[in-house]
Amino acid sequence: MKAIRFHEFGGPEVLKYEDVPEPQLRADQVLVRVRACALNHLDLWIRKGLPGVNLPHINGSDVAGEVADAGDLATEVKIGTRVLLAPMTFCGHCRHCTAGEQNLCPRFTVLGYGNDGGNAEFIAVPRVNVIPIPDWMSFEEAAAVPLVFVTAWHMLVARAKVRPGDRVLVLGGGSGVGSAAIQIAKLMGAEVIATAGDERKLERSKQLGADHLIDHHKQKISAEVRRISNGAGVDIVFEHVGQATFGESIRSLRSGGSLVTCGATTGPEGNFDLRVLFAKQLSFLGSYMGTMRDLNEVLGRIFARKLHAVIDTSYPLAEASTAHERLERGEQFGKVILVR
Ligand SMILES: [Zn+2]
Repeated sequence: MKAIRFHEFGGPEVLKYEDVPEPQLRADQVLVRVRACALNHLDLWIRKGLPGVNLPHINGSDVAGEVADAGDLATEVKIGTRVLLAPMTFCGHCRHCTAGEQNLCPRFTVLGYGNDGGNAEFIAVPRVNVIPIPDWMSFEEAAAVPLVFVTAWHMLVARAKVRPGDRVLVLGGGSGVGSAAIQIAKLMGAEVIATAGDERKLERSKQLGADHLIDHHKQKISAEVRRISNGAGVDIVFEHVGQATFGESIRSLRSGGSLVTCGATTGPEGNFDLRVLFAKQLSFLGSYMGTMRDLNEVLGRIFARKLHAVIDTSYPLAEASTAHERLERGEQFGKVILVR
């Protein structure tokens, strides 16, 4: 089968469109013919080199396609069933997995990170990962959903426990996870302040439901948050930008507020004054992906059309390096997708 694979870490040029062996189906697995696979920033980090990635490697965490072989499994998914894949793998039997906290499992990994992903014609995954999608939903829409929505749902609902009336600051409203966060916060009855770096992304953030907008290149985030909230600050900051915004994010919190973060796109260092942490009684919450429960809860809203995938551009699988370059330049609003 054809796949995008890399044999060394590096720039977009290391991505090779080449023939690779078809995956061998394990007894618990289903073979899926990939129709669409969305990119994430994780794809760029993995391509540049992360610990735990074995070479050669096939990227791809957000996968939609059709069941090609269900093996001997007694399952309601048949050959041809249109599906998306849960973007995670886990052992399924440890105390965390059996308690429904799969993202605490010692063997938890993101699909396409600790194992080969969906930048290929076929992928073999455990049956538990295979989730049928509605007829109206395109493969591109389905692929645009899983990772960013499960991540944003876990952050806002499971970790920060967003409630109606909360004021939520979403950093980078133009990103995949940011555009999911704006919608989820609004659905939960929160007031949303979104930041973005240009007019187009600000306008799109507004269309997704953001009540207030901050241009983070031209305006000081914490000063604008104070102005918008009459000096109060926000209940929740939704962070994933990291070093470039961490200080401003903390300064934007009200006393007793929570900062929840899933990433550090601009760098891993974040300095803060410990006196501010205790005196303002702040909570800093780390969040990594989400659980199968989070995924099923958020997919319920997607399938009911209360939340919507945001798609930027689609490229043929063979043009993966061009797609990586677009994501690397930060030009996208929503998901960049590889299709076959
Ligand atoms: Zn486990």
